[in-house]
Amino acid sequence: MSEAREWLIQWLRDAHAMEEQAETILAGQLSRLEHYPDLSKRIREHLEETKAQASRLKACLDRIGEGTSTLKDTGGKLMAFAQSASGVFAADEVMKGSLASYTFEHMEIASYTILIAAAEAVGEKDVVQVCEQNLREEIAMADWLKTHLGPTTTKFLNRAEADSDSAKR
Ligand code: MG
Ligand code: FE
Repeated sequence: MSEAREWLIQWLRDAHAMEEQAETILAGQLSRLEHYPDLSKRIREHLEETKAQASRLKACLDRIGEGTSTLKDTGGKLMAFAQSASGVFAADEVMKGSLASYTFEHMEIASYTILIAAAEAVGEKDVVQVCEQNLREEIAMADWLKTHLGPTTTKFLNRAEADSDSAKR
């Protein structure tokens, strides 16, 4: 197998682990958010997209013939737990979560941009298409988050003024 193909497979595995991590982070945020319904709704939608992204990547890996690395996926989930837990006790949890989510989406955008170039380099057209679809969803989520950072901040500050505890999440 060519070097380029081996790297493509490795990066697909990494992306799969990243999506499992995303799933854990989003599910954690969703379970704790109470007073930000727009944010909850968008996170719920992206959680469903994220599950589909992971299974599309898994299908690519199965087809290319390598399967996914259980060890890596477990590592991703554990890391996600640590990251997800880190904002839980913050008095501005919704703001810390917004920061982390916007950052995470951009890591995903970079990952799929790299994967698309790698898949094109070895002529894996199906992989290119899967990664382009995932990339579009990450860009849409990043744009939504960017648009809502200001309004979420305003809402957080207004709620904090009235009742600091309910502003948190
Ligand atoms: Mg994703
Ligand atoms: Fe995402």
